[in-house]
Amino acid sequence: MSRQRTAMITCPTCGTSFETRYWESLNAEMNPAEKEQLLSGKLFYTTCPNCHAQHQFVYPMLYHDMTHKLMVWLLFEEEQIRVLLHEMDGVRTSSLMISQTGYHYRFVRSINELREKAMIFAYGLDDRVIEVLKLFQRSIIHKKLPHVKVNRTMFFPGSPHQLIIFAGDGATYTTELIMDPYEEIAQTRKNRMDERSRGCVCIDEKWAFDLLQNYGVYNKNLPLMYVHYGNEYMGFSDGTDKSMCLCSC
Ligand SMILES: [Zn+2]
Repeated sequence: MSRQRTAMITCPTCGTSFETRYWESLNAEMNPAEKEQLLSGKLFYTTCPNCHAQHQFVYPMLYHDMTHKLMVWLLFEEEQIRVLLHEMDGVRTSSLMISQTGYHYRFVRSINELREKAMIFAYGLDDRVIEVLKLFQRSIIHKKLPHVKVNRTMFFPGSPHQLIIFAGDGATYTTELIMDPYEEIAQTRKNRMDERSRGCVCIDEKWAFDLLQNYGVYNKNLPLMYVHYGNEYMGFSDGTDKSMCLCSC
């Protein structure tokens, strides 16, 4: 079910106060037009009735995609996240039924992360595998463009799918997201990914890095794959996934 509310806000351009609508929860099936606005990034913009300036109006919300069994909470304060996780833990442990429906519960801390989750699931993809692929691609970027400090990356659907790279200097790059190892990761790492994504979780590159760090097994006889994340990097191979060595380290 979708829930819309109203709030009084003040235009940062002209100072006019006006009432605007916002979504406490948005159901993709019930509100397909708003879902499209979310995907395109327009949902969080509001227009001042006086000066017609457009400004981003940011608020916490729940996005629910019933088709792809996804619930994502957009939350900005750590206290909100703590309360959510506490509540979700109660739900999870008290009702086996919910855990058996195959639902994916996520929380994110920014509008772009919410858009990204919505897009990944709308295309029937597994966000956990996508985060691992994004992490792998950092290695290639690191090798090809060593001067670029990658702050953040974002999946963007297309033919082929794209990866948007937000660099530390404010520049943005777009490159093709290499999807070749997708199925292999989805199959060979399913149990490990399931173990680490129970309940409501934040699935991002940090999560993917921890996954590989905890489960990657060093084997000196196999080619190493180097995964870079922030200032950290690791050499990693697990004895089965030679084809996952994307950057030929
Ligand atoms: Zn205004």
